[in-house]
Amino acid sequence: MFEVIAVLEQNLLLFYIVVFIVGLLIGSFINVVILRMPPLLEFAWKKDFADFTESAFKEKKPLSIAFSRSHCPQCKKQLSAWHNIPLFSYLLLRGRCYFCKNKISFRYPFIEFLTALLTLVMAYKFGVSLSLLAGSILVWFLIVITWIDIDTYLIPDQLSLSLLWFGLFFSLFEFSITPNQAIMGALIGYLSLWLVFHLFKFVTGKEGMGYGDFKLLAAGGAWLGPELMIAVLMIASVGGLIFALLQAVMKKGSNKIPFGPYLSIGILVSYIFGSQIMYAMFPGL
Ligand SMILES: [Zn+2]
Repeated sequence: MFEVIAVLEQNLLLFYIVVFIVGLLIGSFINVVILRMPPLLEFAWKKDFADFTESAFKEKKPLSIAFSRSHCPQCKKQLSAWHNIPLFSYLLLRGRCYFCKNKISFRYPFIEFLTALLTLVMAYKFGVSLSLLAGSILVWFLIVITWIDIDTYLIPDQLSLSLLWFGLFFSLFEFSITPNQAIMGALIGYLSLWLVFHLFKFVTGKEGMGYGDFKLLAAGGAWLGPELMIAVLMIASVGGLIFALLQAVMKKGSNKIPFGPYLSIGILVSYIFGSQIMYAMFPGL
């Protein structure tokens, strides 16, 4: 293990190639999680409800995340291993299912590529280190959260709270923030959006976002500390506003906009450029 690390440290190109390939594989798994987690959660809720009300429950359990092979969403044929190579299978098959020739959503290769690219950014920033593992975990969670929020307008607690715990855990190593800052960050992250939510509700009578967003920003706070919460909120609000304006101009889509993706972008940008942002906000420090 240590020999592998030593080789990677000496050969940067090889290191980046390995990281990119690992990123593609994780991206492929992320696609599966995005697809299968929401139906599994819905199943669990319905089952809980049925248990609670002591009514009959006959629904079939959806595909599990780890233990079911991939299928074509249209013809349901099981994919063989070589149809399942991240990115390359999509290119080789020219974006169509091998069996039924129906178009495969561009989203799958896009998420694989995005995961690999952002993991590579972390590798470039942190090199061969434990910080790279931390940064990659943050990237992977944020990608899953972003797309589940886009699909369902929900951010599962299982994701946001796990991300929060990971942030608290990695703060023990004090890569960029101390455990004190992580705890304060989580607290301020949660409370700031909670406050915005209730002010907005008080003024307009509408609910602008959900509790999932508060928990996501709490998780972000555990990774970034309290000061950068301002940057995250600014990036997320500007991003959300631009998107809402574009949607209004094009008169397309629903008026419901998930906030999770913008918070995720804000968290990631602040994580990568944290020291530059801090310097811009507090030049004296
Ligand atoms: Zn098919």
